[in-house]
Amino acid sequence: MDNDQNIEFSDARSSVVGGTPVRRALPQRHRRTVGAWCFADHIGPVEQVKNPADAGIGPHPHIGLQTVTWLIDGELRHRDSLGSDQLIRPGQLNLMTAGNGIAHAEEWRGGTGRYHGIQLWVAQPDETRHGPCAFEHHASLPRIDLRHGSATILIGSFAGATSTARRDTDHFGAQLDLHRGQSVIELRPDYEHALIVLDGALHVGNVTIAPGRLAYLPAMHSEIALDVAEPTIAMLIGGAPFEAPISMWWNFVGRDHDELAAAQLDWNARRDRFGPVDSMRAWIKAPDVPSRTS
Ligand code: MN
Repeated sequence: MDNDQNIEFSDARSSVVGGTPVRRALPQRHRRTVGAWCFADHIGPVEQVKNPADAGIGPHPHIGLQTVTWLIDGELRHRDSLGSDQLIRPGQLNLMTAGNGIAHAEEWRGGTGRYHGIQLWVAQPDETRHGPCAFEHHASLPRIDLRHGSATILIGSFAGATSTARRDTDHFGAQLDLHRGQSVIELRPDYEHALIVLDGALHVGNVTIAPGRLAYLPAMHSEIALDVAEPTIAMLIGGAPFEAPISMWWNFVGRDHDELAAAQLDWNARRDRFGPVDSMRAWIKAPDVPSRTS
């Protein structure tokens, strides 16, 4: 039986990325991964982007991870070193696999001025993390009704529906759109899970989960009871605990310092490993990797 004692609650850290305020829910010092999910930046919401030329990020590299870009409001233009050029709209999944190396630019393009979304990263397993890069865009995704709302399945399987998006590890991600009332969400006991509220608020026991707060459930939970106070949008992510301790620095995910340092050198030397990206935004230099990377 679930109880509040084995759910961890933590606060996201506020930062600014690409001229936009973000709440970084992952990684945290005591919570590095949830399944293979290793990074979560809740972007905005920004009601009116003031400097469209500044909103977004110029060419920068990634290794060893997949980026999952997901919008609630606004539009982004994704361009990468594979030659992809894709407008991302709300409800569409942008899934970029870095493997041994990729570079991309993410430029804000929204018409209404509002900008709201989340970018998550999935750590790649050893089987694919040195492999080729790839890009997928999913304009439509499976959506299913829940008792008090609906779920859109970005990756993996949830509540009987399965996304066709690429998946290198045993994980899933879904957006929950919840109405007022009490909802019981079934969970897989072999997965660990996290809940990130993007809009609205809900209660888990006595604890309020609103934007900026993360709820983490270790494996062995078969359900979570949510008391939804107002119409709420939340991301539910989960997966089998990740195989290996990871090292992260800047936009790189690896297993040790030397891998990250090699990626930093290769990017700053503009080696072929990453390739060029067409973008009006400034190319971003990689910062030095600290000698001890946690
Ligand atoms: Mn990126």
